[in-house]
Amino acid sequence: MAEWFEEILHPGFRTKLQVDKVLYEGDSEHQKLLLFENAVFGRVLALNNIVQTTERDEFIYHEMLTHVPLFAHGAVRKVLIIGGGDGGMLEETLKHRGIEKVTMVEIDAAVIDFSKQHLRFICNDAFEDERLDLVIADGVDYVETTCERYDVVIVDSTDPVGPGEVLFTERFYTGAKRCLAAGGVLVTQNGVPFFQADELRNTAACLRPLFRDSSCYLAAVPGYTGGVMAFGWATDNVTLRQTPLDRLQERVRASGIETRHYSAEVHAAAFALPPWVSALLERSPQG
Ligand code: SAM
Repeated sequence: MAEWFEEILHPGFRTKLQVDKVLYEGDSEHQKLLLFENAVFGRVLALNNIVQTTERDEFIYHEMLTHVPLFAHGAVRKVLIIGGGDGGMLEETLKHRGIEKVTMVEIDAAVIDFSKQHLRFICNDAFEDERLDLVIADGVDYVETTCERYDVVIVDSTDPVGPGEVLFTERFYTGAKRCLAAGGVLVTQNGVPFFQADELRNTAACLRPLFRDSSCYLAAVPGYTGGVMAFGWATDNVTLRQTPLDRLQERVRASGIETRHYSAEVHAAAFALPPWVSALLERSPQG
């Protein structure tokens, strides 16, 4: 009898993936870790029974949450990753030769240890890169206290449940703004708006008063069921979101970075929001 993994992230909707083989199951100090094999997605990492990343589609998510802000900015030297324990965001960021330092602030050391052992297909040797500054802490505490300033802040968090909940608050976004260098960009994992509209609406309401430009961009990541995923975008450099296509194309060419989903054209198109998503970003009638 086949065994099934059931994700119950969205009320009224459940996703099931057949478990062909359990590779690891255990509890860390902060959350339940599960890694299993599935014929469609390959190896699947779940935290607290919510799919985090899969072998078959992780490249889409990691490429879109790194290369969009980094190529838009064009001169990134320091990056802060909040969360990202599977190492995929770190690995993709480090492909940019101009990067001098990546600080990763991950609350659960067990996820990193686990990823080094079981998820090398995602992190490769990123955790051994000398540019990595690894901090085991709650992301909200770090952004409120660090003296460092970053050109890009990437929030690669779990969904707003458990330890991830604080990373979707005004308190956290205020801290993230605090540790951005002039002209820096904050990008966030902001869920699937078809199911998590309130999550995107809330982030937009928090970012709007903090930044001169805030919006989101979209990509469909098959493992995050429900259509397109939204990535929050916030910066005081209002030109970055409209970085000309030819400039993006030149930066991508000069970088020599090979990608499977991201391209300058996909980058530009990702900011073309359908009206139902744009509406989630607008100020509510209540202000
Ligand atoms: N791609 C996934 C997604 O879209 O849901 C996220 C992947 S990554 C595994 C999420 C990471 O965020 C986990 O390693 C988790 O431990 C970490 N995390 C959750 N809450 C955190 C917090 N408050 N501070 C720092 N890291 C946190």
